[in-house]
Amino acid sequence: MLVPEVNIGLIGHVDHGKTSLTEALSGKWTDTHSEEIKRGISIRLGYADATFYKCNKCGGHTTTDKCMKCMHECTPLRMVSFVDAPGHETLMATVLSGASLMDGAILLVAANEKCPQSQTLEHILAMDIVGIKNIVVVQNKIDIVTKEQAMQNYRQIKDFLKGTVAENAPIIPISARKKINIDMLIEALETSIPTPKRDPKKDAKMYIARSFDVNKPGTSIEKLGGGILGGSLVEGSLKIGEEIEIG
Ligand code: GDP
Ligand code: MG
Repeated sequence: MLVPEVNIGLIGHVDHGKTSLTEALSGKWTDTHSEEIKRGISIRLGYADATFYKCNKCGGHTTTDKCMKCMHECTPLRMVSFVDAPGHETLMATVLSGASLMDGAILLVAANEKCPQSQTLEHILAMDIVGIKNIVVVQNKIDIVTKEQAMQNYRQIKDFLKGTVAENAPIIPISARKKINIDMLIEALETSIPTPKRDPKKDAKMYIARSFDVNKPGTSIEKLGGGILGGSLVEGSLKIGEEIEIG
């Protein structure tokens, strides 16, 4: 059985296509909270998993066990967990707490807008602060621009990245909505965001991104159940039934 090995964050300006790309890669729409649907923005962090495969015949990369191009069998490479960050300006704290879980990130830039937009800049600065260096830049929405517009936008992205952590990051043109060039993106993620080495023998260390209380208000003390922690185990391992101390 495959377990998620690497956490990849999706960052970038609001509406540049982070949630759409998460869906294109994982099949899961992460904006599920009712307020998120109403306002059309991602408020909390969204999570989705996908398995990356390589075709045994043509070598193409997919998220399915049959190749999309030549229909041959594919070999699973690794399981990836996506953290879909909100793009709204007031939600920077959420992005920063999410960034502590990320082993690498996809920075989305919409090809039909001037680059950088405000959160394009803020999120890249957040990566710098948290120390995330493995970044793949995605130029999204290429289905709605001309070749000339795409080239001009590409030059703006290149200029913007100069002097940032993502200076030498690959830039992959895609359409998340039309699922164009997703195979090239997966290949770039395989090369640029390696699975970090984790030592399962060390003491367990987990970064917590969120927590819930499973108890309904008014539950009597004897009937109180535990809480739920969501996050990422960065060192060591945990077993079912194990007693842990939260430091
Ligand atoms: P987020 O705020 O970054 O999560 O952006 P969303 O994924 O919610 O996308 C914002 C809007 O852009 C939605 O209406 C999407 O359908 C649209 N969109 C996303 N990707 C593409 C794309 O590749 N092409 C086009 N034409 N529209 C896209
Ligand atoms: Mg979103």
